[in-house]
Amino acid sequence: MQTRLADFVRGTPEGREAEAILRKCVHCGFCTATCPTYQLLGDELDGPRGRIYLVKQVLEGATPGESTRLHLDRCLTCRACETTCPSGVQYARLLDLGRRIVEEKMRRGLFERLERAALRFVLPRRTLFAFLLALGRAVRPLLPAALREKVPARVAPGARPAPRHARRMIALSGCVQPALAPQINAAAARVLDRLGIALLEPPQAGCCGALRYHLDDQEGGKRDMRALIDAWWPHLEDGHVEGIVVTASGCGAMIREYAHLFEREPAYAQRAARTTLAARDLAEVLAAEAPQLEKRLAPAPRRGRIAFHSPCTLQHALGVRGAVERLLAAAGYELTAVPEAHLCCGSAGAYSLLHPEISAELRRRKLAALESGAPQAIATANVGCLVHLQAGTRLPVRHWIELLDEALAERAPE
Ligand code: SF4
Ligand code: SF4
Repeated sequence: MQTRLADFVRGTPEGREAEAILRKCVHCGFCTATCPTYQLLGDELDGPRGRIYLVKQVLEGATPGESTRLHLDRCLTCRACETTCPSGVQYARLLDLGRRIVEEKMRRGLFERLERAALRFVLPRRTLFAFLLALGRAVRPLLPAALREKVPARVAPGARPAPRHARRMIALSGCVQPALAPQINAAAARVLDRLGIALLEPPQAGCCGALRYHLDDQEGGKRDMRALIDAWWPHLEDGHVEGIVVTASGCGAMIREYAHLFEREPAYAQRAARTTLAARDLAEVLAAEAPQLEKRLAPAPRRGRIAFHSPCTLQHALGVRGAVERLLAAAGYELTAVPEAHLCCGSAGAYSLLHPEISAELRRRKLAALESGAPQAIATANVGCLVHLQAGTRLPVRHWIELLDEALAERAPE
């Protein structure tokens, strides 16, 4: 795509990166076919090719209007378009730049600013979020339906093994996950413990930065990322841990970007690159332990029918495909077919709060696809998808590691 960047961005590192990305796009439109917002809204500007064109216009000096912002806001950053694109266009990086420039050039209305500021303030603060969630649970029946569905019932996490092995990994605790679904990291710790790996959670390690980064505060998000890198660094530096385990694919996708986001920041470039290299999704960690795991599970009895919802961040951003399904199958679960498995469920971080109608329609379609194979439960790999889907179905929605933990516990009771 021929581009003539405006003075404010021409020759800057970001401008050069944007130009390189834009040059790759040949307008073929293949990406449009797999874009959930295009499928729903039918407007070219609500698809990747249209959004690329809008960002290009802004980079060339056009003044963005409310419509530019709306179309960029409506993108779920699901990255299905990147997986589809035959030319390797890094759409999400271009979108991040476009969103930031639009934000700098155009102030949002007061309500939107307050709404986004409140989300940025509350969500990454683990203690404050846990307090508000506990309050929400106490008055749940009195809450309006839209808010009630954001307040899931508490699930007991179960016992957590004390670190007892020479092999050690650190887990990302995260910001909202410890309060929303503490059972996920507890199940991961039990599974890894059975495989001879102790899971540590450094208490200072908080939000991965994704929430603020994607809520119009890229600098605030990078502050959270630096804090997380600092909390993990002593563990990585002295070499007593093998790596970082991430049980929420949304956070994993953000951490995968650290190396790129800090490559021009000398104080953090090396540590960020090392952090990106060390961090793996739980499915990748357990896939590497598959022979040992399968030995423990064999012969696996037949278990229930499970529909697996692979989050966009797992399949499109991290490129992990099939690993969870193989692990669940090895444990005896029957995986049901899921049509259009590449499509987003509509959760997408804070998207479900900011665009409730699009989000609800995407969930309705996703649940219809997941339930079409008559499963007994739905499994997923990201806390946001889990809570979002659970609010729309009577079927239990669980993190896949909980299912694997149960299967292992039955084979070898503690
Ligand atoms: S990231 Fe997802 S929603 Fe955004 S343009 Fe690409 S496919 Fe569409
Ligand atoms: S598929 Fe790739 S090259 Fe084709 S229009 Fe989409 S982003 Fe551009």
